[in-house]
Amino acid sequence: MSGIDLLKKELEHVSRKVYERNLTSAAGGNISVRIPGTENVLIKRSGISLGEVSREDALIVDMDGEVLEGQGKPSKEVRWHLAIYRTRPDVSAVVHCHPPYAVGYATLGMELPLPTVTAETLLAPNVPVAKAAPSGSVELANYVAEVFENNPYIKAVLLEKHGIAAVGETLEASYNIADLVEATAQQAFIASQIWANLAATASA
Ligand SMILES: [Zn+2]
Repeated sequence: MSGIDLLKKELEHVSRKVYERNLTSAAGGNISVRIPGTENVLIKRSGISLGEVSREDALIVDMDGEVLEGQGKPSKEVRWHLAIYRTRPDVSAVVHCHPPYAVGYATLGMELPLPTVTAETLLAPNVPVAKAAPSGSVELANYVAEVFENNPYIKAVLLEKHGIAAVGETLEASYNIADLVEATAQQAFIASQIWANLAATASA
């Protein structure tokens, strides 16, 4: 199996894991990975659920988003995936999804709280927010690029009123960051509820 075939297989595997872990629903979310030794990227095609992605749904695009190989259109989110690759040469894979707790914080435009030692360590320095703009717009790509330029070492970003993007050197690493972002958001939410209950009891 060639290197590209192996990457396509990994993209299929990670896409399904994102869906099965409930990190996204319906046809939301997208995954891409750089093809080593080239200026090209493998990205899921538009309109298919991550839960149903197969190898044939991985398109090869260049850094302008032009399709070089594969059937269909690339995800409309391709613009900001490419903006991340241009801004961060160390990043080789992007996992984008809509996990419910993290999106809860993203809807408020809040940076993700990091309540655990694990989150503080693995999501350091912070998980900032990229401002909202329509999906697929140049504006959104610019907002995402701006956050990555201003925060050079981040592993993930919340997309205001939308979802998250997790980055890493491999698809597996980016998946693990996405999974941790959602687990962290859930833990932060639970902790906030406990504090709220304690505060209500104390003032009763
Ligand atoms: Zn999305």
